[in-house]
Amino acid sequence: MSDPLLSILEQYWGYTAFRPLQREAMDAVLARRDSLVVMPTGGGKSLCFQAPALVGDGLAIVVSPLIALMKDQVDTLVGNGVPAACLHSGLSDEARADVLAGIAGGRYRLLYAAPERLVGEGRHALFSRIGRQPVQFIAIDEAHCISQWGHDFRPEYRQLADLRQRWPGVSLHAFTATATARVRRDIVEQLALREPVELIGSFDRPNLVYRVLPRSNLRRQLQDVLARHAHEAGIVYCQSRREVDDLSAWLREQGVRALPYHAGMGDEERHRNQDAFLNEDVDVVVATVAFGMGIDRSDVRFVVHAGAPQSLEHYQQEAGRAGRDGLEAECVLIYSGGDFARWRTMFEQAGGEVEARRALLRDMERYASTVGCRHRFLVSYFGERWEKDGCGACDYCLGELEPVPDAVTVARKILSAVARVGQRFGAAHVINVLRGRPTEAVVQRGHADLSVFGLLGEHSVEQVRGYIDQLLAGGWLRQSEGDYPVLQLTQAGIALMKDPATAPDLALARQRRPQKGRGAGGAREAASWEGVDRDLFESLRVLRLHIARARAVPPYVVFHDTTLRELARVRPSTLEELRHVYGVGQRKADDYGEAILEVIREHCQPTG
Ligand code: ADP
Ligand code: ZN
Repeated sequence: MSDPLLSILEQYWGYTAFRPLQREAMDAVLARRDSLVVMPTGGGKSLCFQAPALVGDGLAIVVSPLIALMKDQVDTLVGNGVPAACLHSGLSDEARADVLAGIAGGRYRLLYAAPERLVGEGRHALFSRIGRQPVQFIAIDEAHCISQWGHDFRPEYRQLADLRQRWPGVSLHAFTATATARVRRDIVEQLALREPVELIGSFDRPNLVYRVLPRSNLRRQLQDVLARHAHEAGIVYCQSRREVDDLSAWLREQGVRALPYHAGMGDEERHRNQDAFLNEDVDVVVATVAFGMGIDRSDVRFVVHAGAPQSLEHYQQEAGRAGRDGLEAECVLIYSGGDFARWRTMFEQAGGEVEARRALLRDMERYASTVGCRHRFLVSYFGERWEKDGCGACDYCLGELEPVPDAVTVARKILSAVARVGQRFGAAHVINVLRGRPTEAVVQRGHADLSVFGLLGEHSVEQVRGYIDQLLAGGWLRQSEGDYPVLQLTQAGIALMKDPATAPDLALARQRRPQKGRGAGGAREAASWEGVDRDLFESLRVLRLHIARARAVPPYVVFHDTTLRELARVRPSTLEELRHVYGVGQRKADDYGEAILEVIREHCQPTG
């Protein structure tokens, strides 16, 4: 191979091709042209600066905001045989002295540093060690931290442009997964990038399977998801600390290795639980949204939202923690109409930009109630064109959602019931009336005698609840605020009751039945397991855990699941064959090759 980048990719990472835009991004780095690269989580941003750092001479500096991210990346690099180190406040004095000496001695090709190490008073220690050594370029990871419009504003990022005073000729390369134009502009301005190459990747994540379920029985719905992912990693996001505690306790009773995570816990316990997740001591974290920054576990196979987040930006960010290794994973939103009412109340109480936040929430609500492809919806929302027909990776395209026949008639039955009970009852009561359930409350109020009683007798509670949520999201119904929200008609709802022609496009959907079987269930799932010996895969996971323990790093730093699956498919019997497996670079073949071959040999030997 004559292409230096490709041979580096192959030698150190065991990869044989570039992901979309990686090549262009690396070329910009090698050409020392300032650049801004926007790629979705898992798109492969880090390689864009790591591989070029190995082409030229000198040190590449990487600015990164989080110790956990830095550590993972440096551990991975070192495991691949790349001389790299990091400088941050978490180091012991001894470790710091060692790193600084290494810098002075020109030992590293990549140096990760927290922004405080590069700006303000903190910079002198570092600058003096670098001295006159050539600096190849400066990469700024998570560059959206520079913008107040992003989600993790870090004031020190604002001063990074000053690095040009120290190294005038050095190029700056900004990387982020935050796509909004405002943040992008901010990054270019604040870093004073000079005619930057701008590379904006596609934000579709084809390996994620999206599903949306109207909340009926949360625990049962969770069980359905978990049943598809026994012993796999997942995150369950809840809206309240109490729900976090309840659900994680309940999951443990069910035999799931789960731990809670929320801001109400002490720092120490929170860290302990986070580490347990990263080190594969537990499979599931039940968390409030406080959990996430710095979660780099790449084999998260499912993310469940028990309750709708406040915007699609939030949803994308949180759900996006699934499947970073590129393998199939699923993102399930379990929502109810009440979630949105609660957010609105919170916005009112918080004041400020209420209208903007309401608008974002409405889009979230539209996503939840849409009867169409979820990938298309998300991609269009984030400003991209969607060219494909079916995605093969959402509940709609997988045929799990069934359009309700004659939706307008069903909708009008529901609206009539709301009107007939005087717009003074909540969803549960209206559902009982529509399904013809003569509960005490229904009989007492005389609602069993209404003409709407039993009109939807053949639909399940979940289904009718789902329709009501969809009518709420579509603006036909609304829910009053307060502790006992009641259903009311909107103007549009009243118009529809009078005249069915006012809603020609109204569609309602219901779940066919919970998806059974193993795995996320998309079209790619089967392909990714094709020919994989599952038992061998599990044995290799055990080996990986041993290696990780011995090296005191998280298992995903040793090998990704992708590589383990490939090993369990190819079943190499020599080091040479092993070297050609995806994700096995020279260093890893040297370090772990024999151990891997041993496991494969043992496994493939006929017993008896
Ligand atoms: P990001 O920082 O954009 O979220 P990463 O850089 O962590 O993404 O990359 C995600 C995963 O994809 C990592 O496991 C990485 O090793 C892998 N990866 C990156 N580039 C390639 C490639 N060209 N071929 C195969 N795997 C890749
Ligand atoms: Zn789809």
